[in-house]
Amino acid sequence: MARPTRAHVDLAAIRHNYAHAKTRAPGARALAVVKADAYGHGAVAVARTLAPLADAFAVACTEEALALRESGIGNPIVLLEGIFEPAELGLLDSARLTPVAHSREQVDWLCRARPTRPLAVWLKMDTGMHRLGLEPSDFAAAYARLADCPHVSEIVLMTHLACADEPDHPATQAQLACFSAHAGALPGPRSIANSAAVLGYPPAHGHWLRPGIMLYGASPLGEAHASAAALRPTIALESRLISVRHLAPGEAIGYGGRFVCQRPTRVGVVAAGYADGYPRHARDGTPVAVNGKPSRLIGRVSMDMLTVDLTDQPGAHPGDPVQLWGDLVAANAVAAASDTIAYQLFTGRSQRVPVSYRDDR
Ligand SMILES: *Cc1c(COP(=O)(O)O)cnc(C)c1O
Repeated sequence: MARPTRAHVDLAAIRHNYAHAKTRAPGARALAVVKADAYGHGAVAVARTLAPLADAFAVACTEEALALRESGIGNPIVLLEGIFEPAELGLLDSARLTPVAHSREQVDWLCRARPTRPLAVWLKMDTGMHRLGLEPSDFAAAYARLADCPHVSEIVLMTHLACADEPDHPATQAQLACFSAHAGALPGPRSIANSAAVLGYPPAHGHWLRPGIMLYGASPLGEAHASAAALRPTIALESRLISVRHLAPGEAIGYGGRFVCQRPTRVGVVAAGYADGYPRHARDGTPVAVNGKPSRLIGRVSMDMLTVDLTDQPGAHPGDPVQLWGDLVAANAVAAASDTIAYQLFTGRSQRVPVSYRDDR
């Protein structure tokens, strides 16, 4: 038997989640964010399934955009960090890409471009995230410079929220106030909302939503928030038991002997580890499913294996199926038990884990 570690992606669920994003803000358009290989789901497969629905796609760089163009995706594609050097200006034109401009330098480059067709630009303001974006006081001047360029056909005004995953956080209101104070008088569509704001902060919806993680079934507001039930899980990481053993009270499991059995314990060894993208920092008790039934991680995660408690499953045997996250085990729950976020679990799947796709129409 080949190594049974696999990822399964449900394309119909991704379409459902995109449609759900749009129903949250009727009339708004939505960029489907497919950067980082569509959060580990496979950017080409995800873009192909969303292409008939998606108003546009968003990626991190021209390399990611070209992979979509080469696979026949014709939708508009926004480069969320813009171009990294002026040498990429030609690609904007030849591959019909839409750059973000987040700095004066990028505005300079775009003003100097001489594209063969009109260029749309997403102009980004730093309203408090303090990562990328023009200073609020520079924004109107940058807008005017772009608006004066005969080749710039449209300017979308954008900003990014730092704390939208905590809907009561005062920073979000302050960011929106900053945005309207410095962009309020300028014409053009607005784009503010990541998944957290799409789901939890309607005043930030604007004209263009930018859903990412919610397309992949994990609510950034957590499993306790009602939004988690409206989203369908899109990826399952699965493997099988490859060994089962019996340990006596006082015996320890795995590296460092982190878990010491308190009772006679049936231990299952699963063929999945941190080299597959399972978090090494997962604590004892992290949920897993064996034969579709709840179980828990015990002992430190190794490179290629991890260990689970089968004491309550006397019938479990080598070869039985294990789900590490998916429809039975929320990725958010595994992330919470590992001091990380579902984003990192999804983007961390390693190349050695093959992906298969299903599409129920
Ligand atoms: C990645 C990204 C998003 C999507 O964020 P999610 O939290 O995954 O919804 C939206 N906007 C920008 C600028 C991004 O970089």
